[in-house]
Amino acid sequence: MSGNLAINMAPAKPFVTSTLYTIGEAADILGVSIPTIRMYEREGLIIPHRKHSKHRRFSQNDVERIRCIRTMINHDKVSIAGIRRLLSLIPCWKILNCSPDERESCAAFHQHDKPCWMVSGKSWECRSADCRECSVYTEVASCQAIKQAIVMHTLGSEVATTE
Ligand code: SF4
Repeated sequence: MSGNLAINMAPAKPFVTSTLYTIGEAADILGVSIPTIRMYEREGLIIPHRKHSKHRRFSQNDVERIRCIRTMINHDKVSIAGIRRLLSLIPCWKILNCSPDERESCAAFHQHDKPCWMVSGKSWECRSADCRECSVYTEVASCQAIKQAIVMHTLGSEVATTE
């Protein structure tokens, strides 16, 4: 990736709160069952933190991501496969400032059926990165952030800010 990679691949901005929730706490906050959250993880929509004890932990951004998933399912009637496709529209190559060559050789740029963190055959930099710590995953979490990322990086910041 180009010169900005080191900046972009660094751990994301601090979360609004650094609190990490257990899966039970996250389920309570969201009003969903624990098996539902586990299912989202199996389906690749979320990547929870894993403590040394192997127990899942969820950040505030994870909670916002699940909230967005719930809205898409319950309000917009989007299927899990549909959500994967929507997440695949997040232009990670623009957020990470990949060069044209890196972009062309990366499967995440060419696939449109799953988010980049689920894709195999990514460019070397992404293959060796921890998606859980990547700004594409950590910062583009809420429905609003997903929308902004797609609009800003696709059409330009002017459009996004005038919405
Ligand atoms: S594949 Fe992983 S490291 Fe690469 S842009 Fe997506 S979340 Fe970031």
